[in-house]
Amino acid sequence: MTGVQFSKYSLMRDFTLQSYRSLILAFQQSGYRFQAFEEMMTAPAEGKSVVMRHDVDELAWNALKMAQLEKSLGVRATYFFRIVKQSNVPEVIKQIVELGHEVGYHYEDLALAEGDEDKAIKSFEEHLAYFRQFYPVKSVCMHGSSTSQYDNRLLWKERRLSDYGLVGEPYLSVDFGKVYYLTDTGYAWDGGKYATRDVVASPFELRFHATAQIVDCIEHGAFPKKALILAHTLWTDNRLQWYWLHLREFLRNNVKLMAKNSPAVARFYKMLVELYWKK
Ligand SMILES: [Zn+2]
Repeated sequence: MTGVQFSKYSLMRDFTLQSYRSLILAFQQSGYRFQAFEEMMTAPAEGKSVVMRHDVDELAWNALKMAQLEKSLGVRATYFFRIVKQSNVPEVIKQIVELGHEVGYHYEDLALAEGDEDKAIKSFEEHLAYFRQFYPVKSVCMHGSSTSQYDNRLLWKERRLSDYGLVGEPYLSVDFGKVYYLTDTGYAWDGGKYATRDVVASPFELRFHATAQIVDCIEHGAFPKKALILAHTLWTDNRLQWYWLHLREFLRNNVKLMAKNSPAVARFYKMLVELYWKK
């Protein structure tokens, strides 16, 4: 979809809890069922269905707000937590489990172990056991680790998910030829050009920028029947946080684009990221 869409939502600030709510309601009013990722793997819904996947890269308390909103609308979603302190907040994980959502592990062990596979699988097992204290984790999902040379998925080159009691990994277990994939990476639904590894090949022709365009598409019955939607935790009704995050994402998107052509910018960006995530 191109061009400016005028709808009842177009004057709203996007990527707020209010716009997130409008998205969920549009799906529900058009007969979509929400499933957690583990359910999609073990008992996929017939007919129209959506999986709401949240990668909790940071701002864990925002995840809780999204989880509460979903609960109030009768939606079960999936939250993937990282082991880093910005994501791994036990109080938040516990409350999200209590709200009835699925919790999974957002792994980055190969990048953390600088490519050492033995070390990575050992830490993967430890971290999985850690998250299983809160929830019987059956799903894992790689973190993109955009500044690392290591692709975390390579952990599965010679291993099976089932050996770890797992039923699915979105990047390995989903046929994106049949399931439409949407991601809010970089604070836009068409920010794919900023993503490093978080990309999938898709035959679907739809393109969206703003949430209101997705809502319009659903309301017109033109949205695919099956979808997996990745929404990070940057959705907020707090104005100050919203402006700050938009500025940060704007700068980050541009630095990431420049880094693709300039090793010096890439090194600088990697340094900033390492400083930010330092434990
Ligand atoms: Zn991530």
